[in-house]
Amino acid sequence: MYWESDKECMDREELEQLQLEQLQSTLNRVYSHVPFYRKQFDALGITPEDVGSLDDLARLPFTTKADLRDNYPYGLFAVPMREVVRIHASSGTTGAVTVVGYTRNDIRTWSNLVARILTAGGVTKDDVVQIAFGYGLFTGAFGLHYGAERIGASVIPASSGNTTRQIQIMKDFKTTALVSTPSYALLVGETMQEMGIPVSALSLRYGLFGAEPWSDAMRQEIEGRLGIVATDNYGLSEVIGPGVSGECQERQGLHINEDHFLVEVIDPEKLRPVPPGETGELVITSLTKEAFPMVRYRTHDLSSLLPGPCPCGRTGRRMSRVTGRTDDMLIIKGVNVFPSQIERVLFEIEGTEPHYQIVIDRKGAMDEATVLVEVGESIFFDQMRRQREMVDTIRKRLAHELGISVDVKLVEKKTLGRSEGKAKRVIDNRKL
Ligand SMILES: [Zn+2]
Repeated sequence: MYWESDKECMDREELEQLQLEQLQSTLNRVYSHVPFYRKQFDALGITPEDVGSLDDLARLPFTTKADLRDNYPYGLFAVPMREVVRIHASSGTTGAVTVVGYTRNDIRTWSNLVARILTAGGVTKDDVVQIAFGYGLFTGAFGLHYGAERIGASVIPASSGNTTRQIQIMKDFKTTALVSTPSYALLVGETMQEMGIPVSALSLRYGLFGAEPWSDAMRQEIEGRLGIVATDNYGLSEVIGPGVSGECQERQGLHINEDHFLVEVIDPEKLRPVPPGETGELVITSLTKEAFPMVRYRTHDLSSLLPGPCPCGRTGRRMSRVTGRTDDMLIIKGVNVFPSQIERVLFEIEGTEPHYQIVIDRKGAMDEATVLVEVGESIFFDQMRRQREMVDTIRKRLAHELGISVDVKLVEKKTLGRSEGKAKRVIDNRKL
């Protein structure tokens, strides 16, 4: 099932021709309407006319979060405010708030791209879609909302929070698709269990999750607890919001909407493209946006481009699930550590709950990392011997995965805070 088969299954050569034309027109627009870009291009002695092939993209300067901040709030808009019909802002997980705008056309494009992703994830006009993202400046809720309406599904704008009410709605309104962060989906599953509501009491079939990195192990956990097919989708407000890429039901990577975005993967230090299949930082150029075009935006999200075609028939290249952010990377005892590595290990160990937190302290010159892991009651209240064995197993597996030793502490179920949006996995007490 496709939303726009002519675009999603486009011939590669035809697609690249389209991309080049759109890139040239985007560059012309930013060069003449956004002083920031003109200055950047002039400094490198490049004009839009110099870009004659897609390979020339690599000659253009990157745009960073700092550039967005420096041009706060409207400095990077490429149209006058009277043409802007919507303003959103980034969720600010990394501190800086950045503002983005949409023309009426941009909203139409956005809805259409999200409709593609929802369709790829199994959603049709017969579905009842519950949006459990927070409605507001964050693009997640509105993006999915408009996409689901575009398909003709029945949309429930439940917003985030109030999990018991959320579950009641899900049950009474016969919700068939849940849209949220993956960590919130886990909380929903856990709360259902506490309320004594079995999965069979719900009509849920699909889950479309995004806005934070998650692992395949976590996917299996969510699918098991909620009895659904869970797909991953990706986007960021600086580029458009959700709708950049999403998984089809093959779940072998996220199809990029390449007729609207050029995606590169670079080495975040050398700033050069990495070979296909290798992990690096995603860099995205928008091809069709009017109000807020983006040239080579450094997302800090880590992913790779996957080789080969997908059995579903879509021709858009696929990216791997985002495994983390370059700025989530922790340096513990001089070693690079990503929270997703810890998550992967914990999911493989029987008896642990899918909730954990990493606490880092510095004693003298030495880093000390402790991973707090929730365990089921049967283990927490069990004999010391079994607990010790479990701590030992986790410690060994983590040491193997991370290459450094960390402390492990088992905590009772529900000790660690639950998040209704993005999960807080790291507490870094070091003054670096
Ligand atoms: Zn596919």
